[in-house]
Amino acid sequence: MSVMTRVDPALADVDPEIAALIGAEQERQSAKIRLIPSENYVSKAVLEATGTVLTNKYSEGYPGRRYYEGQQVIDQVETIAIERAKSLFGVEHVNVQPYSGSPANLAVYFAFVQPGDTIMGMALPMGGHLTHGAPPTLSGKWLHPVQYGVRKDTGRVDMDQVADLARRERPKIIVCGGTAIPRTIDFPAFAQIASDVGALLLADIAHIAGLVAGGVHPSPVGHAPVITTTTHKTLRGPRGAMILCTEEHGKKIDSAILPGLQGGPHNHTTAAIAVALKEAATPEFRSYAADVVANAKVLADELLARGFDLVSGGTDNHLILIDLTNKDVRGKPTAKALDRAGLELNFNAVPFDPRPPANPSGLRIGTPSVTSRGMGPDEMKHIARWMDEGVEAAKASDEDAIERIFAEVKELTASFPAPGLRG
Ligand SMILES: *Cc1c(COP(=O)(O)O)cnc(C)c1O
Repeated sequence: MSVMTRVDPALADVDPEIAALIGAEQERQSAKIRLIPSENYVSKAVLEATGTVLTNKYSEGYPGRRYYEGQQVIDQVETIAIERAKSLFGVEHVNVQPYSGSPANLAVYFAFVQPGDTIMGMALPMGGHLTHGAPPTLSGKWLHPVQYGVRKDTGRVDMDQVADLARRERPKIIVCGGTAIPRTIDFPAFAQIASDVGALLLADIAHIAGLVAGGVHPSPVGHAPVITTTTHKTLRGPRGAMILCTEEHGKKIDSAILPGLQGGPHNHTTAAIAVALKEAATPEFRSYAADVVANAKVLADELLARGFDLVSGGTDNHLILIDLTNKDVRGKPTAKALDRAGLELNFNAVPFDPRPPANPSGLRIGTPSVTSRGMGPDEMKHIARWMDEGVEAAKASDEDAIERIFAEVKELTASFPAPGLRG
């Protein structure tokens, strides 16, 4: 063999097309202000762990009991991830193998209910997640979903409705948590209702796990015996998920993941989860979580001052849901115009939205990513102003104004390099 064949060619040589696209995506993530509340920028350390030879290894099973040989190293990696999660969240049992948040929830259903059984979750258009029983999903089709929502007058979860529905429908599982909830989730109240009707409470903290870990949102531990979370949202880890539970349910959860739902765990992800959990246990991460919430409050106040209508009137966490009805614009074209202006966000349904999900009345924004870049209250004020100007520009189809905003945005983002992209 010649020396040449033994030197691994770089990505840019093997596949210049994909390499260039990755470069372009890095540019894009760097130039724009990312306001999507479910996204974040992982650290260079987390990125590094993700792109390693751990991707080459098969490890069906759990540490110490695998169906493949050669687990001397992987067993240690997974055990470290599990122990760090247990200690960070204060739980008895953790499974770090779910491929993502959706399969984590499916595994919980597989562990505790049969096809046709009743589960109760928050309706998607009210702020729940697809996997909480939305009609077009597996959870909506193979189970019997009952759905709760928010109160029209307060925009907050309607706990009376939750209690009434639970008493009437006797669900086996009650799911709390969601994707567009700007307010604190009342875990003790959900736990009381679940206990009254003999249901298992599943807390899905995908969005807020980093806030829980950072001590700025109450923890579901002690209230919900089973907790699912993604690892890539406020927790700022790689794409993945975890199931946290009491010792009592540990075996059932583990067998629901393997052999129930999945095959081999993604070991490179497990390693990166371990790194993210180490970072999340630091004082720096606690202050990051506090800053995420503080920034969201400033941004909410600034938007309110500019006449934006916020669902529930504000925020307790990292997320803000805007109802654009009073601005006389629609969610989707506005989101697209703001994206062209360098403000990346979601169009989103608002509770009781009269408009279709493909072009709803609202926008969903959040502060995890901008806070990871080190932005603070001053920058939140600029963002609110750009959103206001962007909405008016969209309304007037003024592409010059959109371009002017993007130029200003780029000037700001250039002085706030994102973690992992700092070179
Ligand atoms: C993001 C999210 C999920 C799903 O996570 P994926 O990794 O996208 O599958 C589940 N539940 C909630 C509440 C979420 O916000």
